[in-house]
Amino acid sequence: MSARPRRDAAAPAPHTVRLGDVRGQERAIGFLRRAWERRRLAHALLFTGPAGVGKLATARALALGLHCDVAPFDACGTCDACRTIVAGTHPDVRVVTGPLPERRDIAIEQVRELQRELGFRAMSAHPKIGIVNDAEYLTLQAQNALLKTLEEPGGDTVLVLVAVNASALAPTILSRCQRVTFDPLPTADVVAILEAHGRGGPEAHALAAYAEGSPGQALVFDAEFFAHRRREILTRLAAAGRGGFKGLADFAQELVSEDKDLVPALTVIASWYRDALRQRALGADAELRNADLATELPDLSIAASLRNLETTYGTIIALRQNANRNLTLVRMLLQLAS
Ligand SMILES: [Zn+2]
Repeated sequence: MSARPRRDAAAPAPHTVRLGDVRGQERAIGFLRRAWERRRLAHALLFTGPAGVGKLATARALALGLHCDVAPFDACGTCDACRTIVAGTHPDVRVVTGPLPERRDIAIEQVRELQRELGFRAMSAHPKIGIVNDAEYLTLQAQNALLKTLEEPGGDTVLVLVAVNASALAPTILSRCQRVTFDPLPTADVVAILEAHGRGGPEAHALAAYAEGSPGQALVFDAEFFAHRRREILTRLAAAGRGGFKGLADFAQELVSEDKDLVPALTVIASWYRDALRQRALGADAELRNADLATELPDLSIAASLRNLETTYGTIIALRQNANRNLTLVRMLLQLAS
């Protein structure tokens, strides 16, 4: 059970097929469309932005758009080219989805394989497309190998690097790439995507707010934890404060035995004080992470909310340094209740 975000690679397979199906990235896709219309689409593109906002989906959809003759750029979704690209069997479109299992980096062998696969092909009117997801995990060696593809004279390859943290890439790569930035999505769009994945319902709004505009992150949050355990923790937190020292000690004991990994539980508690802070500062305009529990939010001063946030984050750090779980939680709850 984990409410912690994971990397893009862990997100469910994207349902997106065509550029028009990518939600909330009109600005980035508009940029690509204008470049394509003017025949200025670079041979090396770098898609950057938060995890789970549609960068990889857009890269795959762009491959369709560049290969579909029925509806150029927009893609029909049903012709041979579109279907084989979606199925991952098109010989001119290869995707490196990230590091291999059990590996921390994208190894040079993966880049060489991509280059080999794209190299063996007959000439066609369409570009070869190589997509490297999680490109910040490319080793320096692998980045140098990729540079060869970028420098191929008269090459008809389009390379799309997808990265959350572009600063991990070598300046020699960065300087050759046309950069396209992706933004977090508005909450309403994230909610709509959650509903499309059967994750609607009363907690969808809170889930979207937790994911900070990233549908990919929202979809990998643990549904059970979010729908039930989160509410339980926050309701118990409110009640524990009223039950004196015994109430606090009991709650600490419950957290230790129920939540094997305490970080999701503490992240939820931090979000509670963040909500209290926002409510105090912004009033009715505040977008709360736990909007479904707004009526139970404590009425704290800004100073008290900040102090509680600091206490909660301090506890997360202490637990990472292997402090005694029970004692650390009792201390935290005492401070939160004071
Ligand atoms: Zn098509």
